[in-house]
Amino acid sequence: MNTSWDVIIIGGGSAGLSAALMLGRSRRRVLVIDQARPRNRFAAHMHGVLGRDHTSPLDLLADGRRELARYDTVEVQTGGVASAALLDEGTEDGTEDGTEDGTEAAFEVVLDSGDTHITRRMLLATGLRDELPDVPGLAGQWGRGVVVCPYCDGWEVRDRSIAILAASPMSTHQAQLMRQLSADVTYLVNGTELPDELRSALIARGIVVEERLIASIETDASDTVTAVRLADGASVPVDAIFAGPAPAPLDALARELGAAVVDRQGSSWLDVDPMGRTSVPGLWAAGNVTDARSSVPFSMAAGNMAGAGLNADLVEEEVRKALAVTPVE
Ligand SMILES: Cc1cc2nc3c(=O)[nH]c(=O)nc-3n(C[C@H](O)[C@H](O)[C@H](O)COP(=O)(O)OP(=O)(O)OC[C@H]3O[C@@H](n4cnc5c(N)ncnc54)[C@H](O)[C@@H]3O)c2cc1C
Repeated sequence: MNTSWDVIIIGGGSAGLSAALMLGRSRRRVLVIDQARPRNRFAAHMHGVLGRDHTSPLDLLADGRRELARYDTVEVQTGGVASAALLDEGTEDGTEDGTEDGTEAAFEVVLDSGDTHITRRMLLATGLRDELPDVPGLAGQWGRGVVVCPYCDGWEVRDRSIAILAASPMSTHQAQLMRQLSADVTYLVNGTELPDELRSALIARGIVVEERLIASIETDASDTVTAVRLADGASVPVDAIFAGPAPAPLDALARELGAAVVDRQGSSWLDVDPMGRTSVPGLWAAGNVTDARSSVPFSMAAGNMAGAGLNADLVEEEVRKALAVTPVE
């Protein structure tokens, strides 16, 4: 078994597979390790993805894996990465080698299976976990009656009864976007802060502001959302609920390696440059693990950029090494 790679990609969603395509086509030896639990696996269809609108997100990734099978440079394994350790940061002039064949080995990656791999570069494309509001009945509807993004799921519920379950004052933006799609929008404050100017803007566009706390999400016999039950027993009939889960980036592997983070969008994120390079030499990141707003096309583009950036980074290392062996006067 080959255990020495140019790039190991952790995560095989839109970002990771897109990076693998760029790297594989550049004749880089790539291993993708993927637990196959993409963030949007709860949704039957994805939207806003040109060429694949209203198709299954899982079909897109299956097609991506099939396309990668054309390249003998790429291997995709279903499984998890347990840990990654920095072996050798290399040197500025590339003269210090980490392995016998002269490769500047950078990371040792241990899989959940216990298998160990060595790689020159690593791309984290692990996505994020949505931490859902603790409302009875909500988690079971995630990706169906309860959704997050007006661009992803708004059109399908146009002209229907919509509720916005507030998570922060930012949720008013979601409500205003949905007002574009329906005249029947209710903003469920549920104990969150609602500044006066944002409240006025909701009311001005005919959005109902409901102050009473929520008790649960109600469904019918076919498990379709029908209403939001309030704490006083009243209910608000709804066809869909837009919620604002807290994003938890799955970036522990990078943080353990000491990658720098920045505060953004109310959370702490890996600090990456526009190509996806982190502060740890040889470690890159792309997709939802770096940004909650990263949609499928956005993640694919980020993976594409990171793939090209990683290849260029490896080429630079190879130029340095070639010059060290064959100095040009
Ligand atoms: C309900 C819902 C509906 C959505 N609908 C849309 C839509 O219609 N259109 C749209 O553009 N976007 C939509 N999105 C957003 C979309 O899910 C993300 O944009 C996309 O999944 C991000 O791709 P990614 O590759 O960064 O991460 P992911 O797709 O989440 O892929 C990350 C992969 O890494 C794997 N992984 C994580 N940790 C490890 C590890 N330690 N070892 C190995 N593998 C690991 C995961 O199992 C997963 O397979 C939706 C999101 C949600 C929650």
